[in-house]
Amino acid sequence: MRAFFIFNTLLLSIILSLSVTAQEPDEQLILKNFHSISSGDISDWMAELCSPKYNGRLAGTPEYVASAEWVAGKLKEWGIKPAGDDGSYYQWFDLPFTVVNDTGSLQLHIPQKEGTEIVKSYQAPVEYYPGMNSGSGEVTAEVVFVGYGMTAPELNYDDYRGINVKGKIVLMNRDVPYKDVRNPEYAKWVKYCYHQYKVENAARHGAAGMLYIDGNSANPNISYIDSMIVCGIGPAPLADIFAGLGKNNLTVTAQIDKSLQASSFSTGRIMTIKANTTRHPEGRTCNVAGIIEGSDPVLKDEAIIIGAHLDAVGNGGGLLVQGGLDNASGVIDIMAAAKALAVSGIKLKRTILFLFTGGEEAGLLGSKLYTANPIFPLEKTVIYVNLDMVGNGTGLAVSASSSCAALTEYFVAANNRYIHRPMRVSASEGSFYGRPRSDGLVFLAKGYRTMDISTTDGVKPVWYHLPGDDATAVTPEIMEDVAKLTYLAFIEIANADPISY
Ligand SMILES: [Zn+2]
Repeated sequence: MRAFFIFNTLLLSIILSLSVTAQEPDEQLILKNFHSISSGDISDWMAELCSPKYNGRLAGTPEYVASAEWVAGKLKEWGIKPAGDDGSYYQWFDLPFTVVNDTGSLQLHIPQKEGTEIVKSYQAPVEYYPGMNSGSGEVTAEVVFVGYGMTAPELNYDDYRGINVKGKIVLMNRDVPYKDVRNPEYAKWVKYCYHQYKVENAARHGAAGMLYIDGNSANPNISYIDSMIVCGIGPAPLADIFAGLGKNNLTVTAQIDKSLQASSFSTGRIMTIKANTTRHPEGRTCNVAGIIEGSDPVLKDEAIIIGAHLDAVGNGGGLLVQGGLDNASGVIDIMAAAKALAVSGIKLKRTILFLFTGGEEAGLLGSKLYTANPIFPLEKTVIYVNLDMVGNGTGLAVSASSSCAALTEYFVAANNRYIHRPMRVSASEGSFYGRPRSDGLVFLAKGYRTMDISTTDGVKPVWYHLPGDDATAVTPEIMEDVAKLTYLAFIEIANADPISY
């Protein structure tokens, strides 16, 4: 018994010393490449992706494709193999787009005595935002408030019931009156949340124009209808429309939300919306996909996917949104980790797929395309990790679906050992019945284990879908740490054998 114990101890120490000697060069290699991840690269790449030559990387445009080619060129330079269509880095799809030629105008006609009027003009982008998928033209008409712009007979709810909007301008809110996205009941309402639905429903009812109370920022995720002039409306014109009516949008929508009954009415206000756009039905766009192939003969068939959307919201007729935080930050965090992993020569048993999606801002189209045409089958995919707006703050956060909560431990360990940032870790709160608003939720809905990496405690203002979101909207130091964290955790996940979720 004693001899057996000694033998076992001896064996254990031999194994340990072997594994230490085997691990040591790797550890050095890992650290050397860890330190090669630099905020210098990150700042250079941020300047590149936010360059005016890409014109806000609107999916569908040739400028977006040029940005995709730049990213693919970097993957190639680092020896990351193409994983897209026909041996290329790209997964292509058709995506018509709209060029906004100028900011157009929004005006209120204020009647005076004896048939005269004062015309009040509003300023873009603070008071209104041009519709990023508006038809081109001009409409002058009465404004009709239509709540949430939805017609749902099965829910006994219709914002257009008993109200005539033919040739008029409809004014509506985003979302729906039912708010509890964690309640299965929400599933009955969700299809009415989509911007596409709202503009199409307005057109079905004969409206000629649409004022959308939608955060007053660039929104390309809306249907194009030739005859429909659309613009986003800010607080000032909204207040003018309601002035003197004894109510405002908040009080009316609070009543609608409480009663789940529509409360539409003609405001009596006459407004003019002008839009100058050009539609491009020939638009085409792509995801960019590259892999580092696994070294293990069996485990290489399993893939870890890390993704970020490369597209941004484009140029609203001179209102150029370069998409620095949203989402050059996520793309560049991944690029920095990818470069370190690829050039390091560190052996990875599993395959890592780097996926940069297009058309996220037009309705999560790139992730829908990927999940319908996966490069690795779902059952061979370890996890999809999403990075969106990851580059403003001093803290880190990792949030996993409950199906892979244990994988967050690799990130915690990497942070504790080498990075030392405050870090929040969470598992998903369970079912979600709302409109998906990130690529990660598209993957989750298709049955993938998913994780989001994000940054917390923002130190800069967030210019969401506004011209302020440029290369200066991020902090390269936190991006460097996100890349380092990803790099370290991915080495561990790629080599975990067995892996436990
Ligand atoms: Zn985004």
